[in-house]
Amino acid sequence: PVYLDYAATTPVSQEVLQAMLPYFTDQFGNSGSNQHLFGWEAADAVEESRNSIASFFHVKPSSILFTSGATESNNLAILGLLEHQTPGHIISSVLEHKAVLEPLAHLASKGWEITYLKPNLDGEITLEHFIASVKENTRLVSLLWVNNEIGTITDVPAIAQWCSNHSIICHSDATQALGKMAIQHLYLPDLLSFSGHKIFGPKGIGGLYVKPGIGLQARQWGGSQERNLRAGTLAVPLIVGLAKAIQQIPLLLQYLPELEAKKKDLANELKAKLGNSIVINSDSQNQVASILNVSIKGVDWEKLFRSMPLLAMSNGSACNSKSTFPSHVLKALGRPDDMALASLRISLAHPYLQENHEWVKQYLVQHLHQLIHERLDTNF
Ligand code: PLP
Repeated sequence: PVYLDYAATTPVSQEVLQAMLPYFTDQFGNSGSNQHLFGWEAADAVEESRNSIASFFHVKPSSILFTSGATESNNLAILGLLEHQTPGHIISSVLEHKAVLEPLAHLASKGWEITYLKPNLDGEITLEHFIASVKENTRLVSLLWVNNEIGTITDVPAIAQWCSNHSIICHSDATQALGKMAIQHLYLPDLLSFSGHKIFGPKGIGGLYVKPGIGLQARQWGGSQERNLRAGTLAVPLIVGLAKAIQQIPLLLQYLPELEAKKKDLANELKAKLGNSIVINSDSQNQVASILNVSIKGVDWEKLFRSMPLLAMSNGSACNSKSTFPSHVLKALGRPDDMALASLRISLAHPYLQENHEWVKQYLVQHLHQLIHERLDTNF
């Protein structure tokens, strides 16, 4: 099968794997063992990784925390900041990933008021829209930088700058932005979550940037790792892998024009061959190059996926793939339930450039055509 689900996860690159390998075997020390060489080597590897990630983001090394992934980073950012404070108001959006929506739901159950911004018809959250929802007691803004289902970009730097001028803390889940746009050169929010496995790094590792002066409280207790904010033996090989993956991001960005051309070609082909039977859900100007999301009218979603076993695609977010609920993101764009369910998210990355694109196009069009015609035949 051809893999078209790079927004769900990516393989570990050779460079990342090679960088990690010694830390699984020869250099296996615990970075917390400060009495011997094995521990020192591991601690050095962790701190070099932290320095490298910090210099990528142009921030201080002490502001980078290692976590098990973006889910944990989001939980630490949101709950670590607010869980023990007197409830106030939070602004977020209906476009967020569950890894933000669920910690927010937890705060809502403790009395926090949460405004979920809705996107415009292009799937975008605008600065004006955000400013209009700010209240006297707004304490946190948490907005996804790039949406994982439709790829729309939120102007997080502008919102973060506004928040900074108005003493409101701003968090962004940048899991899908990293490696898909050059966020490292932009103004960063106070808290930024990211993950290794979306950028050709390993699964089970992520990071949280915490701007100096932002006070977080730990959510797990034990050893004093990560400035007492995240107890537990550090995953040295994974940390080394994350740093290596982040170092490779400038290379990933070089492929974006080619990926965008492929994505546009696929979208144009689908529009040309399937006409009104499909709707492109990722049609905004403010979009990453690599995510194409389409809904197919009147087609059963299970049939849709069963009909194309040679293409590995997803509908909406992989984390929801065991449930048959329509995507909350597509519903926010106004798609009815059946169209939100019968959607395909095709997400590309540079290994796709080695695949036979013409074959993928034909396979997709042919199978969708067939499904649409079966539907028309049963309707008449
Ligand atoms: N946030 C976004 C936007 C995502 O796309 C994902 C991945 O599914 C996550 C968070 C969860 O990341 P992790 O798998 O590192 O916990």
